[in-house]
Amino acid sequence: MSTYPLIHHHHDLLVVGAGGAGLRASVAASSKSLSVACLSKAPPTRSHTVAAQGGINAALGNRVADDWRWHMYDTIRGSDWLGDQDAIALLCERAPEAIVELESMGMPFTRDENGHIYQRAYGGQSTDYGKGGPAYRACAVADRTGHSLLHTLYGQALRQKVKFFVEYVALDLLLDEEGICRGLLAWRLETGELHLFQAHATIIATGGFGQAYASTTASTICTGDGGGMALRAGLALQDMEFIQFHPTGLYGAGILITEGARGEGALLKNTLGERFMERYAPNSMELASRDVISRAMMQEIMAGRGAGAKKDHLLLDLTHLEPNIIDSKLPQIADIARTFGRIDIHKKPIPVLPTVHYTMGGIPTNKYGEVIKSCGARNTSAGSPSIVAPDPAQSLHDSQDLIPGLYAVGEAACASVHGANRLGCNALLELVVFGKNAGEQAAGAIKHGAAHKSLSPELLEQLLARFDELRRPRGGIRPNVIRKQLQQVMHSHAGIFRERALLEEGRKKLHELWELMRHDLHIADRSLLWNNDLLDALETDNLLRQATVAMASAAARTESRGAHFREDFPARDDAHWLKHSLGSVDDEGNVRLASRPVRLTAEEPQTGTAISFAPEERAY
Ligand SMILES: Cc1cc2nc3c(=O)[nH]c(=O)nc-3n(C[C@H](O)[C@H](O)[C@H](O)COP(=O)(O)OP(=O)(O)OC[C@H]3O[C@@H](n4cnc5c(N)ncnc54)[C@H](O)[C@@H]3O)c2cc1C
Repeated sequence: MSTYPLIHHHHDLLVVGAGGAGLRASVAASSKSLSVACLSKAPPTRSHTVAAQGGINAALGNRVADDWRWHMYDTIRGSDWLGDQDAIALLCERAPEAIVELESMGMPFTRDENGHIYQRAYGGQSTDYGKGGPAYRACAVADRTGHSLLHTLYGQALRQKVKFFVEYVALDLLLDEEGICRGLLAWRLETGELHLFQAHATIIATGGFGQAYASTTASTICTGDGGGMALRAGLALQDMEFIQFHPTGLYGAGILITEGARGEGALLKNTLGERFMERYAPNSMELASRDVISRAMMQEIMAGRGAGAKKDHLLLDLTHLEPNIIDSKLPQIADIARTFGRIDIHKKPIPVLPTVHYTMGGIPTNKYGEVIKSCGARNTSAGSPSIVAPDPAQSLHDSQDLIPGLYAVGEAACASVHGANRLGCNALLELVVFGKNAGEQAAGAIKHGAAHKSLSPELLEQLLARFDELRRPRGGIRPNVIRKQLQQVMHSHAGIFRERALLEEGRKKLHELWELMRHDLHIADRSLLWNNDLLDALETDNLLRQATVAMASAAARTESRGAHFREDFPARDDAHWLKHSLGSVDDEGNVRLASRPVRLTAEEPQTGTAISFAPEERAY
């Protein structure tokens, strides 16, 4: 038995992650008089949610008439019909109520001239089922919406006596032999101790894995640790090939310039001064969806119409906007451009380039945040990595095949409301609507004060052995070197444009990184106190597992849909691919793929009336 003294904790409910999703779930669960613990590797108010700029969607209709069903249609069209329509119906119908809740919790929304919540236009959002003009649906706090949302929810969680464990790193799930989740094992950075958290329900809210890419708007903590834990527990992740590139990362720095800038009227131009979106999305122009605009930008660059000496970026022009719009609605953008690009956006356009922004895939859940059980890949076999192709017999039907005690929400999860491409301002909405759902659902399944089951020594030994193994020096390569190589591989081989040879080469390069992780890793620091090298190794392991599943899922999906564009299969293929990908990976890097049907029907949450949108051609 590995000799690590364990510190034991028992709570009714455990939330991993203190971003918007984790905090909303904690607030919901703690209102049911349960003991709720929330664990976070970073201080809560530094979670990536704090960086969200543009807004949060709800069909409030404060500026033009709006309807949650139009929002539903836009979200499904944005998802390229891969989103689960029952979850999307719930997301959009509950949105106005969720905004009112945030407002009454104290979130300081920007106001319009009538004193109502200010709403701006955003990409891919329209009125009248795509036939009307732009919908003004994004409720905003200037361009610092995530900052306000996160601080508001943190205040509420403290008020409700949620117990926070800050700078605790979740290592692995306690999934017992009956397939029930009993909590998790964590490492406390400040003291170096290992802590065993037992709970009747565990909610994973650890955010996305944007750090798998070289240029990303995601913070360095966004390493998808929840997805890594799920894969190590033998679970499959869903739709991992769908990676969103945001059109306007600040050229050179990759920092986000919010889509809200275009919502306020900013224009995208090439080196000739042309509004090139006319060629690609003549109706929506700069407010088409992100996948469409990112591809258009790369095509402009490839056609030699990029800006600058190297013709390798494009321009976001705000110089025609009234200065008071910039100063009151986009102050942070002005700051970012000045600090990181030395540009006064009142006078000069901002150089921009598409940058990884959001990971649509994650832990598969239903609309209550309950984790769906899916094929695992626990077997290990020697030799080069293989992909076991999707087997129709393994397709999971819409069963209630759930993992008792395990929930997932936010960017770590795949509910799936974003399908193949997320609409701007639907992520913050997902955090609060599904965070509340998951918190309530999990709380409802718990009997206050129920006894905790004792854990099998074998399970603990297995988890401790893995942690111990990673600490031992095996070679001379530091984890951050492997992480950087991984980021380059993903950027070069699973970027905006993909094709078979590129993806296959990417798979081979990832396999080489598995070998480095197993045989050549070096952890310079031998202690357990704030060991950043070890933390880096743990995070890199999580990134590598998820990148491997993403690359294999992208190689398998022989069609183009949303953010996944195959140059060798440029058309969407509903006959074969209108289904979710599922992928798991064993400890040798072998991937097992399967699929799940998309839920194409829904009921209106209030009335039960059937509502659904059949697949159609997607144009903006
Ligand atoms: C720059 C930027 C701007 C954005 N703007 C918008 C916007 O305007 N509107 C919109 O809708 N969406 C926006 N998004 C997307 C949206 O902000 C994110 O998808 C969302 O905030 C993710 O929230 P989350 O709660 O799932 O995770 P996060 O906010 O990323 O929080 C994850 C939490 O998990 C904890 N954690 C992670 N791993 C571990 C571990 N191993 N152990 C313990 N704790 C762990 C972290 O400490 C953190 O508390 C933006 C994203 C970015 C990057």
